[in-house]
Amino acid sequence: MAHIVIVGAGIGGLPAAYEIRELLPKEHKVTVVNSVDYFQFVPSNPWLAVGWRQREEITLPIAPYLQRKGIAFIPKAVTAIDATASKLTLNDGEVLDYDYLVITTGPKLSFSEVPGAGPTSGGGGGFTHSICSVDHAQEFFKDYEKFLENPGPLVIGAMPGASCFGPAYEFAFILDTDLRKRKLRHKVPITFVTSEPYIGHLGLGGVGDSKSMLESEMRNRDMKWITNAKTTRVEEGKLFVTQLDDLGKDYKEHEVAFILSMMLPAFKGVDAVAAVPNLCNPRGFVLIDEFQRSKTHRNIFSAGVCVAIPPVEATPVATGTPKTGYMIESMVGAIAHNIRDELEGKPAVHKGTWNAICLADMGDTGAAFVALPQIPPRNVNWFKKGKWVHLAKIAFEKYFIRKIKKGNSEPIYEKYVMKSLGIVRLVDHKK
Ligand SMILES: Cc1cc2nc3c(=O)[nH]c(=O)nc-3n(C[C@H](O)[C@H](O)[C@H](O)COP(=O)(O)OP(=O)(O)OC[C@H]3O[C@@H](n4cnc5c(N)ncnc54)[C@H](O)[C@@H]3O)c2cc1C
Repeated sequence: MAHIVIVGAGIGGLPAAYEIRELLPKEHKVTVVNSVDYFQFVPSNPWLAVGWRQREEITLPIAPYLQRKGIAFIPKAVTAIDATASKLTLNDGEVLDYDYLVITTGPKLSFSEVPGAGPTSGGGGGFTHSICSVDHAQEFFKDYEKFLENPGPLVIGAMPGASCFGPAYEFAFILDTDLRKRKLRHKVPITFVTSEPYIGHLGLGGVGDSKSMLESEMRNRDMKWITNAKTTRVEEGKLFVTQLDDLGKDYKEHEVAFILSMMLPAFKGVDAVAAVPNLCNPRGFVLIDEFQRSKTHRNIFSAGVCVAIPPVEATPVATGTPKTGYMIESMVGAIAHNIRDELEGKPAVHKGTWNAICLADMGDTGAAFVALPQIPPRNVNWFKKGKWVHLAKIAFEKYFIRKIKKGNSEPIYEKYVMKSLGIVRLVDHKK
């Protein structure tokens, strides 16, 4: 009997647990360890932050759903990983042995890289908000309610080293839509401050016509922007930004005033994972091979935001590569197949396609992109805008949460619909 332990029950971890459970014979044990006892659907946080969702609509208790599938659940944080002895230490001192470890711990939100930035509840200086967790999105909403009584400038964007730019755009457009609905938009100058070299870069070198489409959307919505923005510090109501030129030289200093601000931070790997000798790169992201497996610890696999992926290209201000939901599910699929094969005495040969598909809401419309593969040059590279994306994003939220409740990581109809669009999770290793 093998014991497979999955650390982190987010967008990657729960589908991993379901898929591994489904593929492995019952004699093997599957356990999920997560620092909190609930699942949060992170992509809905921008809606929570403007009051379009309630916390209960986008979070679920994990235990009953895993129990139903015969998966053990431990709601504790992992504080140390002994990769040589294959043991985990949990926050109450409990020690857990594993035969295979799947690390899906998502990001550590690295607010401290910019003095003054980030909510104090996340270890930050308290002058900007985040929407990276349900708690942070709720904190934003509290301040947003006060802001609506006395509106003024808003600053939204992404810090140097950030990799997840889509939600910053989504949030700026959602706020714009919400303020227009409230007839308050005329009182709120919005500035988008981003480390990307141009609007629509997205950490991906752009996707299709993302640059001109997002610029055009921002112009139509009266938003100003600063790109190549190296935010150096934040004080109460003021963001200090050094804008670089295309050669990476200082070009202009800005002091951007705001009443309310949300700046996505740079990500790192979580402490317990980053501390494992030879497992991670200097930022604490797990170094994996093409089969999602640690390069040094062969019984450790990893998927999601916590894996190391090199930037798509060098940019004047550092930017990272985003890890999006479908791409994460493709990583998870490869891991489940590889662990099954290895337990059957076969070599691990499965690779995720890492195809990137994203639906970005804009409040009343939306933008979708497909990048196949994610790293250019690509076979499929399109970016389209339309009201249908807003509706599709709502449908996706309901669909994903239902999948988590049902415990089915890739229902058969999803597989066939995606296949008909030429989008698959696993590389065909027989070709
Ligand atoms: C605001 C926002 C919106 C996004 N919107 C989209 C979108 O619309 N579409 C899209 O494709 N992608 C989106 N993404 C990107 C990506 O899909 C999400 O970040 C996704 O949540 C990443 O999944 P993950 O499993 O890697 O990490 P997470 O979902 O963050 O899960 C990590 C889990 O690990 C747990 N954990 C961490 N440390 C420990 C520890 N030491 N011990 C035990 N448990 C631990 C955490 O509690 C958490 O439950 C968005 C990202 C953000 C931040």
